Amino acid sequence: MATNRAIHLVRRPEQMPVEDDFALVETAVPEPEDGEVLVRNVYLSLDPYMRTRMTGIEAQGAPYPPPYPLNEPMRGGAVGRVEASRHPQFAVGDWVSSRLGWREYFTSGGRGLLPVDAEAASPSSYLGVLGMTGLTAYVGMLDVGKVKEGETVFVSAAAGAVGMAAGQIARTQGCRVVGSAGSEEKVRFLLDELGFDAAFNYRDGDIEGALEAACPDGLDVYFDNVGGEHLQAAIGQLSAWGRVAICGMISQHREPKPGPNNLQLMTSKRITMQGFVVGDYLDRTEAFMRDVQGWLADGRMRNRETIVEGIEHAPSAFLGLWDGDNIGKLIVRVGPES
Ligand code: NDP
Repeated sequence: MATNRAIHLVRRPEQMPVEDDFALVETAVPEPEDGEVLVRNVYLSLDPYMRTRMTGIEAQGAPYPPPYPLNEPMRGGAVGRVEASRHPQFAVGDWVSSRLGWREYFTSGGRGLLPVDAEAASPSSYLGVLGMTGLTAYVGMLDVGKVKEGETVFVSAAAGAVGMAAGQIARTQGCRVVGSAGSEEKVRFLLDELGFDAAFNYRDGDIEGALEAACPDGLDVYFDNVGGEHLQAAIGQLSAWGRVAICGMISQHREPKPGPNNLQLMTSKRITMQGFVVGDYLDRTEAFMRDVQGWLADGRMRNRETIVEGIEHAPSAFLGLWDGDNIGKLIVRVGPES
């Protein structure tokens, strides 16, 4: 009998997850009943927000689903192929996306399954630049940051999935874009492959000095993925009427620290700071898909993925998000495309 491997959450972490919070569980591959399909996942998305759903903390007021149940597969974005179908709307071989996460196989009555156009773009890109992370970058930059041509924009964690897309989207709007990332390789990626106007390695230490040198004429918009010292440096560098789009604060996950010490500058500089959650902007999906597919096709945007092989490596790869192991979108390949 064929085996279905899945990664379960078996213990709820208090702050940061560790590998022992997960377990690899083997069951039999399920049989689809009448009106169901059997899906074989090919790619899984690994995202920092999953930590919030594991711990159940930091979700107050957010339109997030409830914390993950214990002893069930980790939920999350996945794309895969229909392996067997007893459902009139799905045929064997169809690519579909789902939110059922870290498992090799599952059956479904079709609810929550969306078709994936594997001719138009690589299937894995629907988890990243054409998926939830790309939409986050799009609405964060355009609807929250409200970037305009000629403005200077700073993006932190700029070589990650959201940051990479956010910086490139700002460039399509005619902005000057500065990025920060955690290694020289990532800085070169931003400058040489994505065409950022300036970039620096924040691990060199002096974030304020590096940001000032990168935007000597001031800063109009900060797209914050990191919080902490990055946010403080950005507030210091923002021009009058500057805006901050708070997408995430990954530097605060391991050890939350007191906030920036210069928030008083928000008054004199008339700064606007707005947090946002991508789930509030699903009505922007159509415009996002049209624009980003167009920018990828005409070369104004590029995609980059870090692909880890094997579902058994999903937990360690996931934890690597907090060590900066990924460039671009972090994805696990569960099995072959065909
Ligand atoms: P990434 O692909 O950007 O991966 C995380 C990256 O963060 C790492 O590669 C690492 O890069 C960087 N990082 C980790 N720890 C630190 C630290 N202490 N200081 C600075 N950088 C750090 O992940 P995503 O693109 O998926 O997510 C980026 C941000 O967007 C996160 O904060 C996430 O929570 C947020 N998010 C928010 C959403 C929303 O709706 N508001 C939706 C989706 C994501 P490096 O080598 O540069 O350190």
